[in-house]
Amino acid sequence: MQAQIKTIKEKAIHEIEKTEDLKILNDLRVKYLGKKGELTLILRGMGALSPEERPIIGSAVNKAKEEVEALIIEKEEKLEQQELNKKLQEETIDITLPSTKIVRGSKHPVNRVIEEIEDLFVSMGYDVEVGPELETDEFCFERLNLPKGHPARDMQDSFYITNEYLLRTQTSSVQARTMLKNTEKTPIRMICAGKTYRREDDATHSHQFSQVEGLVVDYKERNVSLADLKGTLEVFVKRLIGENLDLRFRPSYFPFTEPSYEVDVTCFKCSGKGCPLCKQTGWIEILGAGIVHPNVLRMNGYDPDKFSGFAFGTGLERLAMFKYGITDMRYLYTNDVRFLKQFDRKD
Ligand SMILES: [Zn+2]
Repeated sequence: MQAQIKTIKEKAIHEIEKTEDLKILNDLRVKYLGKKGELTLILRGMGALSPEERPIIGSAVNKAKEEVEALIIEKEEKLEQQELNKKLQEETIDITLPSTKIVRGSKHPVNRVIEEIEDLFVSMGYDVEVGPELETDEFCFERLNLPKGHPARDMQDSFYITNEYLLRTQTSSVQARTMLKNTEKTPIRMICAGKTYRREDDATHSHQFSQVEGLVVDYKERNVSLADLKGTLEVFVKRLIGENLDLRFRPSYFPFTEPSYEVDVTCFKCSGKGCPLCKQTGWIEILGAGIVHPNVLRMNGYDPDKFSGFAFGTGLERLAMFKYGITDMRYLYTNDVRFLKQFDRKD
């Protein structure tokens, strides 16, 4: 019987040492030490032995069980450690590798210009107003002295949604909204920037562009004049684009101002010497402006005998081009990241 115990024990030791698998190791534990395990079975069969033999065999079996158990535990720890090491090795993070780049967008040049203009005018006491892009015929035209059938409407090809609604062709609609909204009829100093839409699409025009618009209305005795308009526009253009620029006023026509002017600035490219960009004139048209037409004041609730004012408007793409020296307006709308990223450095 002693020999049988020894054989089982040696077989167990051999199999435990041989295995490299935790699951098989567990099976071996059941096979030798479990309820029906080979060593346990010997203990159960001791009834057949003589009383003298029992303690000897019993102690031998228990000793063998202890040895096998200790060996299994030892092996178990070894295998677990191996598994852990393997896992650690496989899941190592190489902290010296470059991280995934976080791509940060940049402000669009047109938005940069809008922010700069708003800051400048707010510092001069103006309010920033906004209005809807889907506008009524009334606010886009009629209240700006452009009744239905007025020939000057032909200057702006419009996207009509219905007979009464259209995509605004100019931010001037916000002038009418601001005047009407001011029920106290107090003086107004406001600017408004935003998207505008016209039905034109060629190399030099886009069906969607942006405008900024300014309006000043004040008591007549304050005598808001062309000199004030010119002074304001000079500050505007010089601060935004460059101090060494000159302004030139040319008489023009707009339905909502009388008199009306187109304002030119010194060509930023040739400094006034003449180049292809300014068609050799040394000047580039930049703004439309004038003294608010009495009809516009009247239609929006301001008595032209008591109030007067000036208004101006310009294309923001144009301003962005002058400011940053962009030679083709289409760059502003092609969404080329290589182009747009360059303006990050302007901050
Ligand atoms: Zn020029």
